[in-house]
Amino acid sequence: MKIAVIGAGLVGLNTAHRLADEGHDVTIIDRVGPANGASRGNAGMIAHTDIEPLASPRMLRKVPQMLLDPLSPLAIRPGYALQIFPWLVRLLAASTPANRKRSIDAIIAIQSLARPAWTETANRLDLKSFFHERGSLYLFDNRANFEAARPTYAHQRELGIQVDELNGDEIRQMEPALNDKIIAAGYFPDAGHIADPRLLTEALFDRAVARGIHFLRDDIQTIAAGDHVSVTGPDNRHYTFDRAVIAAGAWSKTLAAQLGDRIPLDTERGYNVSFPGATGLVSRPVSFQGYGFVATPMDTGLRIGGAVELGGLALPPNHARTRALYARAQNFVKGLPAYESGTEWMGFRPSLPDSIPVIGRAAASPHVVYAFGHGHYGLTQSAATGALVADLIAGRPTPIDLKPYAPNRF
Ligand SMILES: Cc1cc2nc3c(=O)[nH]c(=O)nc-3n(C[C@H](O)[C@H](O)[C@H](O)COP(=O)(O)OP(=O)(O)OC[C@H]3O[C@@H](n4cnc5c(N)ncnc54)[C@H](O)[C@@H]3O)c2cc1C
Repeated sequence: MKIAVIGAGLVGLNTAHRLADEGHDVTIIDRVGPANGASRGNAGMIAHTDIEPLASPRMLRKVPQMLLDPLSPLAIRPGYALQIFPWLVRLLAASTPANRKRSIDAIIAIQSLARPAWTETANRLDLKSFFHERGSLYLFDNRANFEAARPTYAHQRELGIQVDELNGDEIRQMEPALNDKIIAAGYFPDAGHIADPRLLTEALFDRAVARGIHFLRDDIQTIAAGDHVSVTGPDNRHYTFDRAVIAAGAWSKTLAAQLGDRIPLDTERGYNVSFPGATGLVSRPVSFQGYGFVATPMDTGLRIGGAVELGGLALPPNHARTRALYARAQNFVKGLPAYESGTEWMGFRPSLPDSIPVIGRAAASPHVVYAFGHGHYGLTQSAATGALVADLIAGRPTPIDLKPYAPNRF
């Protein structure tokens, strides 16, 4: 079959490879090229060990502070407060115990597929050198916050995820650049990180082109589906396929709406600063709990970033936020390079209020499949998502029940 995959991010490219594996004639469409969205500059963590959604009563208590402090780890841009309001209402609904459990169960299910799917992809496409298996540290400077995390650690252990609880000395033996304000950590030896998300995404793209997957540069404006799927770019450029996959990250909402699906997709904007060539300061991702940022040792240099800013797709970045993250990192990490030597970046996490991606068929037609909304875990879950989409298109049963990910769940 002729299949279009709209979006050359990690989700689209993994999907394109899985579809090509099945002998389909695949075309990747992107308005710019590979690694143009969130897949370009993320924190690079293979975080299949994480199981928590964004929504929690604890997080919601922070909303008043979010409105007051524009540089807090979670913030709402005043110019976007009205537009994000319905999403926030859904976030509130997602934080009830029953709905939170539904999110956690769905996150656990897809996370359980994430690592084996990446291992298979890395082996098959010769990408193993992009993956590092040195675990990750979730750091605390505050005993109460550490105690609050321990029930989640207990749950993770019940699921078979190894979590070691470390004290400050043990942490500094592993990461000498951390100062003594860090007093405790959860260590996840099975988590991993990648060499650099842009390089990995581009490598997936290069391997796609090398195996005969087509690339079309166009900005898809309309999609309609009947016996076939028609998509158009500006000036009414028109293309027809047997099937299409919408994997356009945070920009997927308007295309899904044309197929009858009103999906509350929005974006959690994230910020970071990268220091090319700065390697060796930390040896694994170190995530600062309560401060909303992580430092990842990419092969290309140290990257420090995170934060969640609810500000939509159009407002310009506010890199005062990146500076604030860096200043917080200076509180805990010795010997950071000067801020001015770094490169700033902002990316758009494609986020649903229940922290569950949308993976399923469009209301208007079974010929269009959605694969977007992976929020904080799109790198981690992209290979698994590609495999699930290939199952859907083949009409095969999927290894996990896809009902919780359905586009019509809202
Ligand atoms: C700061 C930050 C840190 C993160 N850290 C991690 C992490 O450590 N681990 C992890 O697992 N995840 C992380 N994430 C999340 C992860 O980056 C995303 O979930 C993931 O990259 C989403 O991939 P995607 O392919 O769905 O979308 P994207 O990478 O955004 O790609 C979408 C593509 O679609 C194209 N497109 C959009 N609309 C159209 C159109 N109409 N026509 C043609 N092309 C179109 C865009 O040009 C873009 O290339 C992080 C995100 C951010 C922002």
